[in-house]
Amino acid sequence: MKKLTLTLLLLFVTLLGFGQNHNHAFGRKINFPNVEGYVTLKADLHIHTVFSDGSVWPDIRVQEAIRDGLDVISLTEHLEYQPHSADIPHPNRNRSYELAVRLARNSNLMIVRGSEITRSMPPGHSNAIFIEDANPMLKEEAMEAFQEAKNQNAFVFWNHPTWTGQEKDGIAKLYDLHRDLISKGLLHGIEVVNMDTYSEEALKIALDNNLTIMGTSDVHGLIDWDYETQHGGHRPITLVFSKERSIESLQEGLTAGRTVVWYNNLLVGKEENMNLLLDASLKVEKVEYPGNTSIAHVTIKNLSDTEFELRNLTDFSFYDMADLVKIKPQSETVIKVKTKDILSDFDLEFEVMNAVIAPKAHAKLTLHVARTDN
Ligand code: ZN
Repeated sequence: MKKLTLTLLLLFVTLLGFGQNHNHAFGRKINFPNVEGYVTLKADLHIHTVFSDGSVWPDIRVQEAIRDGLDVISLTEHLEYQPHSADIPHPNRNRSYELAVRLARNSNLMIVRGSEITRSMPPGHSNAIFIEDANPMLKEEAMEAFQEAKNQNAFVFWNHPTWTGQEKDGIAKLYDLHRDLISKGLLHGIEVVNMDTYSEEALKIALDNNLTIMGTSDVHGLIDWDYETQHGGHRPITLVFSKERSIESLQEGLTAGRTVVWYNNLLVGKEENMNLLLDASLKVEKVEYPGNTSIAHVTIKNLSDTEFELRNLTDFSFYDMADLVKIKPQSETVIKVKTKDILSDFDLEFEVMNAVIAPKAHAKLTLHVARTDN
């Protein structure tokens, strides 16, 4: 009897689980539209495996990325920090990359060769990606490692400058050594988002020094455990606007700084890149004046996976909500605009509250609205 109860309980729990899965409006795979002139590549370029201080074999990283619908990942093992080396001796620092490439060969997932230069602050930790060989990057002096990265034509970004392991106040600071690296062309990007942290100070450093804005998972355990994908969560990623879907184009896009970071529901990017993404993500589908009213029903379609939070900047008021509008991901939202007169066309202007383009500054969005019912 007890056994039967347990079986029924298990069955119930299982059904409950299925029910939750079915409640998802869209799947786990991350979706953002291509933007004007570019392919939007979904990238996580800071990841660990057992080949440094991560807990999993590279095959798990490849499968996680495929499940998340990513275009590209980089396994960026710490060059200098190898806590598993007694159990997994591997003098070849390229090994996790080589395994990942083999494991991903029957998929669309691209793998970029990378390594994490792991130093005390300054300069702290940095990822060198698009390198040719990780082994010669293992140097005594940090500067030599950065120079070797440059010799290999790498794109180098500063990792978690906000990490309390190296900055007790959690505030990213640019040291003379960083200024030196930037002026010598040895540092090209900075993580504004790492794991579960967001740094306004890092964003300012990025904008002031024309560094590429980056966001990464820096995952060591499992993506599912850290980011609760079963409950609709997602890892932080960098959207890179690339001319083509290739590793060469990805590097060109990163070097040119064409990125927007997606973290929880937040988007972070330089204004011109954010505008590209907003224009591609939010489309006016339909504009009608139903009945004899002068209330325009404006249907806005969100083609992205993020929920947009818009604040009305026009003098118009809305029929059924205040000045804040939520546009749900991958769906349509109707805004009822009281235009007083029936207008053939007009502009809606919004501040996009979840789209940050500078510290405490949000993107602006203008939607041109033209009647579709006459
Ligand atoms: Zn790392």
